[in-house]
Amino acid sequence: MSLATDVLAEFRAAIGEQHVLTEAALLRACETATFPTTQQVFGILQPGSAEQVSACLKIATNRGIPLYPISRGRNWGLGSRVPSSDAVLLDLSRMDRILHFDERFGSLTVEAGVTFQQVHTFLAEQKSQWFLPTIGGPPDASVLGNFLERGDGIGPRAERTSNMASLQIVLPAGSIVEDGYARFGDTALTSLSGLPAGPNFSGLFTQSNLGVVTRMTVLLARRPSHLQMVFAPIPGEHRVCAIDALQQLQTVIGSEAFLTLWNGGKLNARGQAMPQVDANAWFLSGALYGHSSLLAQAQKEAAIEALASTLPALQFFDESNLPDFHQHAAIDLGQPSTHNLQSLYGALQRIMPESPDPDRDGCGAIWLCPEVPFDGATIVRATALCETVLRKYNVTPILGMSALSSRTVRFFVSIIYDRTAEHADQNAMQCHDELQKALIAEGFYPYRLGIQSIGAVAPSPLLERIKAALDPKGILAPGRY
Ligand SMILES: Cc1cc2nc3c(=O)[nH]c(=O)nc-3n(C[C@H](O)[C@H](O)[C@H](O)COP(=O)(O)OP(=O)(O)OC[C@H]3O[C@@H](n4cnc5c(N)ncnc54)[C@H](O)[C@@H]3O)c2cc1C
Repeated sequence: MSLATDVLAEFRAAIGEQHVLTEAALLRACETATFPTTQQVFGILQPGSAEQVSACLKIATNRGIPLYPISRGRNWGLGSRVPSSDAVLLDLSRMDRILHFDERFGSLTVEAGVTFQQVHTFLAEQKSQWFLPTIGGPPDASVLGNFLERGDGIGPRAERTSNMASLQIVLPAGSIVEDGYARFGDTALTSLSGLPAGPNFSGLFTQSNLGVVTRMTVLLARRPSHLQMVFAPIPGEHRVCAIDALQQLQTVIGSEAFLTLWNGGKLNARGQAMPQVDANAWFLSGALYGHSSLLAQAQKEAAIEALASTLPALQFFDESNLPDFHQHAAIDLGQPSTHNLQSLYGALQRIMPESPDPDRDGCGAIWLCPEVPFDGATIVRATALCETVLRKYNVTPILGMSALSSRTVRFFVSIIYDRTAEHADQNAMQCHDELQKALIAEGFYPYRLGIQSIGAVAPSPLLERIKAALDPKGILAPGRY
């Protein structure tokens, strides 16, 4: 299907001729993800302001045309720019201004198209005492898209929803609304807290299709004066006890630690382990954020006390014992990197190009994101389940998990393959479907869904009722969540 001439004319009048794109090659590129998809893109709208977003939504609602918002569209492994069903893309990448920064209180207000790299560069230029926990993914991913997807940050304060202070949202019928203190007008509280009296609506706009978020204030993390990196191989016979000990450590050390577990398959795929490690082995990798030497010492002692008996090779690194410590620790302090994208190119037996684009380059990548209770025996059971299903399909298990609280861990299960190999797409999708089903059957429900996984869980009946009220024609991202 293509857009009717009069519809195109309306969009062009609203946002400018040059910001309505219909070139066939571009549309086909936007229909390409890191796994097979069939959804069509009929056009791309690139509004430059909330008012223009509003105009696009009004036209779409009047005409019954589905729109699918993306902020940067780097949702690689989860659908990239491909809409959840046939749609016109609403690409917000032109809205890329950092609007407000508060050095004293550590908050930052950004438009939808602002990237992690942009924020890092900005804060570095300000010589700020704050940083934004970044992602292991592409530096040019959007902060806002990541927060709205409740993505996984690296560092303290890495949980996204509790670090959103206020949102500007354009509803499907076109009205522009403010959430948080901004609804009272120009008050200092807007950039400091997201919890004025009354219901907290901002969560409604994460992982939903109820509105287009055009602006967000995020709360930053304080740069530590004493950062320590922690690393340990986890002996197979101690895995259950070591994870239980980590859980206990997390309860006492709280959000000033960032603890992750990776299997050897993941370290090998990232090119992090030289020489390659046993793909089935497990490793603790993390960072402790100390704001004084005394605190850092106390954190280290707490970690040793909790972990030494199960992790005999526990190591701590800082600038005193690791050359290039700052380079190694950069990602723990908000500096994004393309380094991890190498894992996608490994399956193609290719060196990653200077400007990586896994959609374009035939990289196969599908993420599954189950949440699992932070309990050693349960986590070992969940990883064994992943390994069994992945191996059945000849997929190397590439597994990781991070602890955002002391109660659960979030798994990242990667199916990485070469899309150009015969039957590879079909094999990978079957593997994904079987694993998603098996995880859910065991109670390991997803905390985030790519477009490939949408049907895996029944839609929330409450979301459906709110959706019917806000978007009766169902024009905004139909079928997403
Ligand atoms: C090697 C690798 C490592 C990765 N590591 C991480 C990681 O550590 N943590 C992590 O979270 N992710 C990771 N990812 C996944 C992904 O790259 C990121 O989540 C990325 O932030 C998503 O792209 P984006 O920010 O450009 O969002 P977009 O693609 O723009 O948006 C994602 C989705 O959010 C919704 N949306 C976007 N903008 C709006 C809006 N303005 N209003 C309403 N809805 C909107 C849409 O449904 C859209 O599809 C990784 C990917 C790769 C390939």
